[in-house]
Amino acid sequence: MPPTADREPVDVVIVGAGLAGLYMLHRVRGLGLTVRVFEAGDDVGGTWYWNRYPGARCDVPSLEYSYSFDPELEQEWEWSERYATQPEILRYIEHVADRYDLRRDITFGTRVVSAVRDDEANSWRIATDTGEQVACTWLVTAAGCLSAPKPPEIPGVETFAGPIWSTSNWPADGVDLTGLRVGVVGTGSSGIQSIPVIAEQAASLTVFQRTPNYSLPARNAPLDPEYQREWKARYREHRAAVLQMRTGILIERGTQSALAVDPDERTRRFEHCWDTGLFACIPASYPDITTDLAANETAAEFVRAKIRATVRDPEVAEALTPRGYPFGTKRICLDSGYYETFNRDTVSLVDLRRTPIVEVTPRGIRTTEAEHEFDALVFATGFDAVTGPLLRMGIRGRDGVDLRERWADGPRSYLGLQVAGFPNLFTITGPGSPSVVSNVIVSIEQHVDWIAECLRYLREHDIATIEPDLDAEDAWVQHVHDVAALTLYPQAPSWFVGANVPGKPRVFMPYLGGVPAYRQRCAEVAAAGYNGFRLDRRTVPA
Ligand code: NAP
Repeated sequence: MPPTADREPVDVVIVGAGLAGLYMLHRVRGLGLTVRVFEAGDDVGGTWYWNRYPGARCDVPSLEYSYSFDPELEQEWEWSERYATQPEILRYIEHVADRYDLRRDITFGTRVVSAVRDDEANSWRIATDTGEQVACTWLVTAAGCLSAPKPPEIPGVETFAGPIWSTSNWPADGVDLTGLRVGVVGTGSSGIQSIPVIAEQAASLTVFQRTPNYSLPARNAPLDPEYQREWKARYREHRAAVLQMRTGILIERGTQSALAVDPDERTRRFEHCWDTGLFACIPASYPDITTDLAANETAAEFVRAKIRATVRDPEVAEALTPRGYPFGTKRICLDSGYYETFNRDTVSLVDLRRTPIVEVTPRGIRTTEAEHEFDALVFATGFDAVTGPLLRMGIRGRDGVDLRERWADGPRSYLGLQVAGFPNLFTITGPGSPSVVSNVIVSIEQHVDWIAECLRYLREHDIATIEPDLDAEDAWVQHVHDVAALTLYPQAPSWFVGANVPGKPRVFMPYLGGVPAYRQRCAEVAAAGYNGFRLDRRTVPA
């Protein structure tokens, strides 16, 4: 039996108060619907609330990683750096919450633990970890793609005598690492951003690396006020241009094969990218970098040479050099002095491919070769990405079907927006949408606008339920797969394919067809009266 609701039912429940949930709330209010938002954190911010580790910053330029829905908002907010730090982005999100008076509909410190479809009542019954229950007609998940931290999966973690911090749940008051011997496990974006900053503070730092990543210099700098003024004067033009970009980030795209150009010219182009500090620049230089192994290798070798030129100890340089998977098929990292950090006397690298971790001990970390002693440990071990945040929410659709069962062989959705058998459930940046392979705020705004317009349509046409046709869903899942298969992406054991979580089905989860094509498809579906969706007027069972 689904739990009964003990609060007034509402039209819409939104799960999450990060960038997606806040804008969804704003739009839902604009439709005159009643709404509740549940947020696990004690305040707004989502990713930017939890990931407060030293060095955390965005890797999309601030002027593009911001809401576009209100020209006044974009004019009044001043970014101080090219790539904003976590505290600055959090201040921005708090400003948005204040500006639109959003907090009054948000229940903080509350996690949704079950969401059960009640077809007879045409509602979702939501239960939280604080014991609250509420029914809603429409359920919108805005839980993010990288919000379910993955356990480190190392035996003995609980025996460590000192503090353990996780980059994905960093103490809000910060941590004083001065004078400490610190061990960091993990060299994805979070590790790569935090390692140079931790190295500056700690007495010594040992980095435990399993897979080397490709990282490019961010070239972060204060934003020139004049540049910002000019940008803002042409903001509408820039926003429109962003929507023409495959990744939703302004970038120059080449049209030639990387193999068709003179090697010197190609190197000049890569050098230009290296200097621009835009992570999408090299992959965009030549279209076949993402589709052809030989073309990709030219970019991979360029970055490898940069690592060799930066890291003084050739053995350390070699250990840091990514091999065995194509460049860009794991999320490219942007760093500020990452490789240079390994030239410090106080920093050492443990190559876990050579000597794997056996266990965490009370004193530190024991590998097959040695026990390394630490005062503190930092885990930057990543997330159960894209599906993790949805699957831990206890979602059960029609006939009690658990979303976990439905997705046992990998996520299935129509347009990344809805799942067959789960009527009136919308998933912002869900699997099968550009989400994490795009500038996510661009994708968030598009999903929120699409869902808001859909809700308006449903109300105007007196429609009680919307859900995808199974055929439309199957075709979309196949399309997402086919597009990914045209690229090199599925060749890497990345979190994009769930390879970082033991037992997770290996399916490429985001949609690689690009932001413009995806937007067009979603718009066409809506314009055709929600083609591929089943709209049902019934409000009581037949
Ligand atoms: P991640 O990319 O999944 O990296 C996790 C790291 O931990 C990997 O190096 C992984 O090694 C290692 N690891 C995991 N379990 C381990 C174990 N048991 N023993 C040893 N090593 C282990 O996670 P992330 O760095 O948090 O980044 C996730 C995503 O969040 C990024 O790709 C990016 O999209 C986003 N992000 C963005 C920013 C930004 O915009 N600035 C910053 C941070 C994160 P393997 O590779 O061998 O599994």
